[in-house]
Amino acid sequence: MNKINEKTDKVNYSKFSLTLLDWYDREARKMPWRIPPELTKRGIKNNPYKIWISEIMLQQTGVKTVQNYYLNFINKWPNVLKLNESNEDEILKEWSGLGYYRRALNLKKCAKIICENYEGKFPDSEKELLNLPGIGTYTAAAIISIAFNKPAIVIDGNIQRIVSRLFEIKEDIKKSNSIIHKNLKTIYSKKRPGDFAQATMDLGATICKPTNPKCNFCPVNKYCLAFKNNTYNFIPIKNNKLRKVSRKGFIFIGITYANKIILIKRPEKGLLAGTICPPTSDWKESEFPVPKPPFKGEWKTLNQSIFHSFTHFDLELKVMISMIKNYPNNVYLEPINKNTINSLPTVMKKSVAFGIESFFN
Ligand code: SF4
Repeated sequence: MNKINEKTDKVNYSKFSLTLLDWYDREARKMPWRIPPELTKRGIKNNPYKIWISEIMLQQTGVKTVQNYYLNFINKWPNVLKLNESNEDEILKEWSGLGYYRRALNLKKCAKIICENYEGKFPDSEKELLNLPGIGTYTAAAIISIAFNKPAIVIDGNIQRIVSRLFEIKEDIKKSNSIIHKNLKTIYSKKRPGDFAQATMDLGATICKPTNPKCNFCPVNKYCLAFKNNTYNFIPIKNNKLRKVSRKGFIFIGITYANKIILIKRPEKGLLAGTICPPTSDWKESEFPVPKPPFKGEWKTLNQSIFHSFTHFDLELKVMISMIKNYPNNVYLEPINKNTINSLPTVMKKSVAFGIESFFN
């Protein structure tokens, strides 16, 4: 039987939603269908029709693509009555390029039911919404919480990932829905359920990303067991496999006072042979080697690791960074910019981007 993760008692989550909403109040992404938090706090509500259209479009399509389609759609059919007056061909034409056309056909069917059975007003209960074509558990909960600001547990892939990490749930993600549900119930906001749902969506899209989440910048990292125990890159668990880090090491990012990054040529043999990148330590199995930075400096170790999978092993790299005054002649000095970072091998690119962002912010 699933239980709430036993470690939850080690963290006090009572202020979790306040902390997350405080961040959302400052950092909420602007979306054309969304009422910003400064207005929702004054009681201005999201429009159920707009939330419905956006959620249906977002079901299988990314936010960036959806925005333009959404604006064109709303421009053409600003409310459910207008949508009901349209015909399937017009809707399909507007939908062209978004794919999964059954979504568009269900919109038309749903608009008809809402106009005929509900006098053009969206029902405000999950039960009734679930009876409408194209509206499943997630979409119903999203409409109830975002459009009606009523408590509802909204769980999508982003939220599964965030909750799994916060509570360090080490069960296969496919089997952990009920434990995620129970844990989420202990932290969500009953006062601002709509903003809470949107805050978690924003957190998942911008900070708690699937790989290498930006934990150092995460507004809720003090509540996160995966961050505390350095397991955030292995959770959520997929296919019942807890990936093992088999090698560990350091990467040394030296910055000159002329704002150049110091690179070296790696040996001609071995992994990443002959590539130009920041110096690293050896990569040892199971434990970190003693760090020996190659240049004199005030080296600082960042408190978040970078993870990378090679074909034969997983690597955990700790990032050390320092300003450097003196360095040998045989190094390469490159400006700190996107071009330089993008020219590095992937694992170095991730490490340098993270190191520079953390060091200069
Ligand atoms: Fe996600 Fe890291 Fe924040 Fe935890 S601390 S919720 S893993 S971004």
